[in-house]
Amino acid sequence: MTQEHPEASESDAPGHPGRGHQPLETIQTRERTVACDGGGGALGHPRVFLRVLDQAIDCPYCGRRYVLAADAADDAH
Ligand SMILES: [Zn+2]
Repeated sequence: MTQEHPEASESDAPGHPGRGHQPLETIQTRERTVACDGGGGALGHPRVFLRVLDQAIDCPYCGRRYVLAADAADDAH
């Protein structure tokens, strides 16, 4: 006997056990202003511009963390 699991799209199945706390993606940037659109696809969101005020900024939409690279040029010149 075969048990078939129909492929449900993830957005239709809230509360995935064990899938709610995966590490966020970290992206290194050399610009203090970054544009994030979530990478497109299912996780995408409208493009927003984020400004790295300190060393890192988290995208409020997709949760990606943009970290300012160590050799990033300081724009205070
Ligand atoms: Zn984002």
